[in-house]
Amino acid sequence: MEDGLLLVVSGPAGVGKGNVCQALCRRNPNLYYSVSCTTRPPRQGEQDGVNYHFVSEQKFKEYLQQGSFLEWAYVHDHYYGTPVHMVRQMLRAGRDVILEIDTQGAEQVHRNVDDGVFIFLLPPTMPDLIRRIKNRGTETPEEIRKRFARAYRELGEIEIYDYLVINEILEVAVSTVEAIIVAEKCRTHRRRGFVQQLLEKGDKFDLSLD
Ligand code: 5GP
Repeated sequence: MEDGLLLVVSGPAGVGKGNVCQALCRRNPNLYYSVSCTTRPPRQGEQDGVNYHFVSEQKFKEYLQQGSFLEWAYVHDHYYGTPVHMVRQMLRAGRDVILEIDTQGAEQVHRNVDDGVFIFLLPPTMPDLIRRIKNRGTETPEEIRKRFARAYRELGEIEIYDYLVINEILEVAVSTVEAIIVAEKCRTHRRRGFVQQLLEKGDKFDLSLD
């Protein structure tokens, strides 16, 4: 069985990463959403084990020392990390895995993993981005300012990404990511195993015509 694809999705706060990833997972049962560990307290409506594994700073540091994270970062005053075990298990089982992580984490994955697919979501305009951050109403004005400043920095860190997808209309952004997944699976280096099988089966085929 071929390994699944490792998809890394990043983008500034308010760009709609969560909505895009949720819609992708709803529409594609083969996609596994990697649930990160974080030391940030849960927001209203967030569930432990679903949105994040909410852990103490001490626990996070223990995991870090044990080498349990594929990548990790300190973002907006809290730690975030991707548990490596489930990611490996799912990829080996042929599931495509989606990591919704920031640019620092994406850089680590880019350095340490051979075959990831890196997607950065863009807002249609910057005023649109700040409107979306304000509208979700989960951050204080100071936090909104920090996120907006960070968005500018992140837009300067997009070199490692393979694709830039504009999230103006959710449906269009989701279909675009699905098209990327289909195209990536057809890339020659990912089809080598399949071609090998074709050749091996061809060898055993009886070519006599009578
Ligand atoms: P939030 O606290 O708003 O859910 O997430 C803040 C930022 O942390 C977002 O950019 C999100 O993508 C990023 N993030 C979430 N989980 C991880 C993770 O496991 N690793 C890294 N590097 N960033 C993460």
